[in-house]
Amino acid sequence: MKRIAVGAFVYESNSFTPLKASEGNFRVVRGEQIYHHLDIFKSTKGIIFKLTEYIYEIMPTVFAVALPFGEVEKEFYQKIRNELLDRIASLGDLDAIALALHGSMAVEDIGDGEGDLLSHIRSRFPKTLIVSALDLHAIVTDKMVENANAFVGYKTAPHVDREETGERAAQLIRFSLENNKDLTMGYQRIPMMIFGELAVTDVEPMKTMIKHLNQAESSDDVLSASFFTGFPPVDIPENCASSVVITAGDIEKALEMSKSLASKFWERRDEFTFNTEAYPVVEAITRAIQGKDFPTFVSDMGDNPTAGTPEDNTNIIQALIEHDQVTKLEHKPLVAVIADPIACEKCRGKQGKDILLTLGGKIDSIYSKPIELNCRIKKIIHNYTEKELGIEGLDLVLVSTRSIDIIITSKRVGVTDPKLLKDIDDEFNQRELIVVKSGYLFDAFKEVAARSIIALTTGCADPVLSRLPYKNVRRPVFPLDRDFQYRS
Ligand SMILES: [Zn+2]
Repeated sequence: MKRIAVGAFVYESNSFTPLKASEGNFRVVRGEQIYHHLDIFKSTKGIIFKLTEYIYEIMPTVFAVALPFGEVEKEFYQKIRNELLDRIASLGDLDAIALALHGSMAVEDIGDGEGDLLSHIRSRFPKTLIVSALDLHAIVTDKMVENANAFVGYKTAPHVDREETGERAAQLIRFSLENNKDLTMGYQRIPMMIFGELAVTDVEPMKTMIKHLNQAESSDDVLSASFFTGFPPVDIPENCASSVVITAGDIEKALEMSKSLASKFWERRDEFTFNTEAYPVVEAITRAIQGKDFPTFVSDMGDNPTAGTPEDNTNIIQALIEHDQVTKLEHKPLVAVIADPIACEKCRGKQGKDILLTLGGKIDSIYSKPIELNCRIKKIIHNYTEKELGIEGLDLVLVSTRSIDIIITSKRVGVTDPKLLKDIDDEFNQRELIVVKSGYLFDAFKEVAARSIIALTTGCADPVLSRLPYKNVRRPVFPLDRDFQYRS
């Protein structure tokens, strides 16, 4: 029976977020416990289910995941890395190591987290097959490529094929082990950084890019082909997009194909634009109100927690309060959400009461500042569980100000499903305008949204890349630089 070690470290860093991510941010699951948490480790689920189908022996090790936030604290990262290494080492002879990584984890003082992790695994296990599933928004680096046999990436954004990508990683392992063939990886960097919102896979040009991948994979000698778009708020030199092609030992073919894919991607660089309407913040609010396609969802993209931001930026609240047309709406606009544990605690036990709150701007004090608001506390829910990442023990508070309502949470949370909003806000279905801390709307919101608008807000995930204070990203890189040549 083939013996496969399985592990995961799924994390995306935002270098512009002032705080580091550490133990308290992560959900860490060990050994057999993973079987109870597969819904939050979706690509791991695909890996495990497929390998089980092959009747391979699964050796679960360590699995860490967190909602994106700042760079990872070095000490915590090294603790998880070393535990992963030790657990793998304790398993004896192995046929392969199957991993689920994100690919855009920056670590304090280290930079390229996955490159560091894979190089440590490779040096401890020089001959073992290493295959990893990666996020489409991965920053694939030379160091990662040198220290693994194969990567396979999601082909959808928003990501609906995480489990399937895990299955594809397992299929590569099986192919190699059953046929006794090496996996070879062709990799080509593409000097571009693209936010996911500009590379949604069911619209152009990404739609065609995915077709190119499927076409490449239809050829007999290509086992897998992936594009990675990079993740703009990671300020490490290696940040860029890439193409990765896996063949069965034919490095020439893998390189040739990855280069050809890279030039197809580069050729269409100018077409990676928002497929959702996107405007400066005041215009976004004005258009939402005047358009009358209700409910309209306005995304505060500069403070999108799924891109690692603090979720306490108050700029859009300020813009709503100052906007002269907001009061014309029949229902107050809702802001979902502001993560502020101090404000949440101040509201405890005061349902129905009036209170003066100093809200937000506590972590993101770079791009925004706290805002003082007279609020009536409309509803409080304690000990709420968010399903996507299994964030437990959340307090939710709905407050009403003169012109807007706001949901305050005691912890950061991805606004990926309207369920949380509906649970705390009894008026959710009547509201005309809902502001979400998000980039593109997740699928569950699309079902309830009549219209979606992206507000180009300043913040730690500013969609206007030229406004972000890059120090380390290797230049030239599109779109920060436009006037340069690139040949794959
Ligand atoms: Zn992603």
